[in-house]
Amino acid sequence: MTQIIRLIVLGKQGAGKGTQCIRLSRHYVIEHIATGDMLRAAVKLGTKVGLEAAEYMEKGELIPDDIVIRLVQERTSTGIAHERGFVLDGFPRNVHQAEMLDDLLTPESLDAVVDLRVPTNLVLKRIASRRVCADCGTTYSTAKPPRVDWICDNCGGEVVQRDDDTEAAIQRRLDLYEKETKPLIAFYREHGKLIEISGVGQEEIVSRRLIMAIDKILRQKTTRISADGDNK
Ligand code: AMP
Repeated sequence: MTQIIRLIVLGKQGAGKGTQCIRLSRHYVIEHIATGDMLRAAVKLGTKVGLEAAEYMEKGELIPDDIVIRLVQERTSTGIAHERGFVLDGFPRNVHQAEMLDDLLTPESLDAVVDLRVPTNLVLKRIASRRVCADCGTTYSTAKPPRVDWICDNCGGEVVQRDDDTEAAIQRRLDLYEKETKPLIAFYREHGKLIEISGVGQEEIVSRRLIMAIDKILRQKTTRISADGDNK
């Protein structure tokens, strides 16, 4: 039987969540669900959600919870996310979203919530040099650009600076992280789900740290499930 894996990666903007979530999704063959990417795609397509979200996003404000939870519900209930699991990137952003997610997943639950820790001075440097593909969301930096002239290696889209990577919007997002998202660390610690991992260092090394910690939790889960089975 396939083990379903449900993960969350928390961290400040620029902590490397996007890059690490893509690596985790490839490693465990699970869906990468990035609410920021979904919202940017909706804005680009001019959907009803996109039109509503654009104004908030430009200022670095959070989109209303009910809109975002609906997107997450749609994505987690179908395809690979449903059959094999998912890693959530950029969601939940506050305790209310975390509670709504718990309700959505019940009777199942999350396997692990990773807090990817990077000091603020380093994330500011990373955001300033961050560039993304306008079509598929692949992340690059001025130090690690695509192979050819700001054309995405992955899909051929144009690689640009994000509209909300302005100084004012970044500051607002970091303030919101402290106020709204940081309390999630205590929330998930109390629920016994939190793993704290340093996000400082080369991509591959951070990725190895994450996989080692998650594998340990998955092994404990497998042992628990088989012990439960033996006791029946
Ligand atoms: P991100 O790509 O995760 O930095 O998200 C970009 C923007 O999308 C944020 O600044 C918010 O405006 C919006 N957004 C993404 N995820 C959420 C969420 N879970 N709740 C509310 N707003 C979100």
